[in-house]
Amino acid sequence: MKQIKQGILTVMTILILLTIADFVLMTKSHNTKTAALFAKYDVMNRFAQKQIIKQTKNEIVDYSQFLDFNKPRTSTDYIFLHCTDTETATLAAVANYHMFRKNWPSIAYHYLVMKDGKIIRCLKPESESTHAKGFNFNSVSICFEGDFDVDTISQTQYNSGLRLLFALHTKYPNAEITTHAEHSKKTCPGLIFPDDKMEYQALNFHFLNLVKK
Ligand SMILES: [Zn+2]
Repeated sequence: MKQIKQGILTVMTILILLTIADFVLMTKSHNTKTAALFAKYDVMNRFAQKQIIKQTKNEIVDYSQFLDFNKPRTSTDYIFLHCTDTETATLAAVANYHMFRKNWPSIAYHYLVMKDGKIIRCLKPESESTHAKGFNFNSVSICFEGDFDVDTISQTQYNSGLRLLFALHTKYPNAEITTHAEHSKKTCPGLIFPDDKMEYQALNFHFLNLVKK
């Protein structure tokens, strides 16, 4: 009986040691950059959950402290409009796609405007990003949740986007408002996205005063 007990104990000890060895080897082989990104992503997710509960209407939620890679831009000549090109999106899904699938240093967009009207600041507006090839050194970006080749933007999302565009235009009065489609083969922010109307209203916001603060 004693021998059986000792045998079981030995087998269990071996199994535990093998598990520890496996874990150590796995951790060692793990790419440190990816591990750092995962850690950052995890912190971001926990922060996101807290903030979404606290968030009130029309408030910008700031995640730039977790997502920004802090490379200041040299100039701001353009404000770009984009869409996620998906029916729905979340900050986590966009960040995951850019950082882990595309392997970019961070999320590409400075701001996300969600379908429910929430605005998320992903990067500091002064930082360089990866949202538009050839224009990252001199532009800031707003991305709208949705696929506006087929979707019509809701008034709530439109109003939030307009408020943000106006705020960025006020911050960068000499920057031209443009779309991704104007500088690439993409249709981004979408064939039926009202970018001309939004640009006109952002430039004339003081007079139109369409969105109550
Ligand atoms: Zn785009």
